[in-house]
Amino acid sequence: MSKYWSETLYDAYGQSFSVDKIYFESKTEHQHLMIFHNAMFGRVMVLDGIVQTTEKDEFIYHEMLTHVPLLSHGAAKRVLIIGGGDGGILREVCKHKSVEHVTQVEIDQAVIDMAKEYLPGHSKGAFDDSRANIVIGDGIKFVTETDEKFDVIISDSTDPIGPGEVLFTSTFYDGCKRCLNDGGILATQNGVAFMQPDEVTTTAKRLASVFADRYFYAAAVPTYVGGIMTFAWGTDNPEYRKLALEILEQRFAAANIQTKYYNPEIHRAAFALPQYIINALNETE
Ligand code: SAM
Repeated sequence: MSKYWSETLYDAYGQSFSVDKIYFESKTEHQHLMIFHNAMFGRVMVLDGIVQTTEKDEFIYHEMLTHVPLLSHGAAKRVLIIGGGDGGILREVCKHKSVEHVTQVEIDQAVIDMAKEYLPGHSKGAFDDSRANIVIGDGIKFVTETDEKFDVIISDSTDPIGPGEVLFTSTFYDGCKRCLNDGGILATQNGVAFMQPDEVTTTAKRLASVFADRYFYAAAVPTYVGGIMTFAWGTDNPEYRKLALEILEQRFAAANIQTKYYNPEIHRAAFALPQYIINALNETE
């Protein structure tokens, strides 16, 4: 293994990390999994050559993909997580004492096992939370077949390459809609808009035929290179993303959770999109 590892998400551009130590590297049943240590970002998880999460910046992504839908909903009791094998989303969901049940559907048991062993700070014991029901399986199969209903669905998937590809399809979004309770919210990992613009427009078109309100919100995550990471948003209640700051402040205070990135003002601001994304969305209408 050379002293450096380079990400292979893009043919013409990429980030590289010095590798101080490799903790795990193997082909699992579904994907190539590697976990190594980097002097700047700590332990780094890679799937199929693409950075999934790092110890140093994971909080940004996991807090924003969790607390924005949960605090927008305001009364979520049942949550579904698709993917999320590192446990970061589950950790953040379990901070909400109002959540009574969370099902997580992860396709690759090895990701959970290796994350528990080498990235324990991600799940922080959340996999053992009495409210958590961990299902090993394909997320698209689950949402198209389950008879369970949820208030919030969070899709924390890999990129639309390999096993994650199905989690960006209309079939998946239709499946999510069918297992959302009235007033439910779907939030998904939807790529770095400047680098993967087609992911935004394709998801926008697909969500438009499923939800009355489909939009995006954003946060900059350093190791998802190329600018702001977009999160896709689908719900039949357009008021959710226009909630007054005072409401969000009340809900955040009542939740009494500790965060390092999320706060009500940044929640509101996350839905303010740059003009190039708005222009691209307008073209899909
Ligand atoms: N935060 C990362 C990102 O933004 O790219 C995602 C991290 S998480 C490790 C992605 C998870 O999605 C992995 O554990 C992977 O095994 C899981 N996954 C991929 N395809 C899946 C599918 N079809 N059903 C369920 N889980 C899937």
